[in-house]
Amino acid sequence: MNDKDLRVGSIKDGTVIDHIDAGSALKVVQILGIDENIEDIVSIAMNVPSAKTKTKDIVKVEDRELASDEVDKIALIAPEGTINIIRNYEVIEKNKVNLPKFIKEVVRCPNRNCISNTDEPIKSEFQVINKNPVKLRCVYCERAIEQNVSEHIK
Ligand SMILES: [Zn+2]
Repeated sequence: MNDKDLRVGSIKDGTVIDHIDAGSALKVVQILGIDENIEDIVSIAMNVPSAKTKTKDIVKVEDRELASDEVDKIALIAPEGTINIIRNYEVIEKNKVNLPKFIKEVVRCPNRNCISNTDEPIKSEFQVINKNPVKLRCVYCERAIEQNVSEHIK
């Protein structure tokens, strides 16, 4: 994989999220809050052949440079993900995703009685206690999520 591969179906300006585990692209889009209400052009490529893993998914967001704190939470489900910032068809910045110490709002607490699941104006928040495999602990009720994190994404 080199930067030239990114030019297949290249975009002029924007962000390319590469090396997403095959089948996880739609979850990545969901975590990024990309839905029918945004105006960015988003392309999703699934099951792309890759030397590094067997196949991978790629997400391209045109005309928007995603900040690392926006993108790092996708490390929940794409720990090998890379973020490429594109300007005028060139990759000007390339970073690996890096799971932050705390994840807000993205994950729903599996404890139905948790205060983050009530009508209280409290957003869910998890401490990351392990990055790979991902293990999370609710900051409110201390309930842990130790597997299948993607099933708990809102
Ligand atoms: Zn909780």
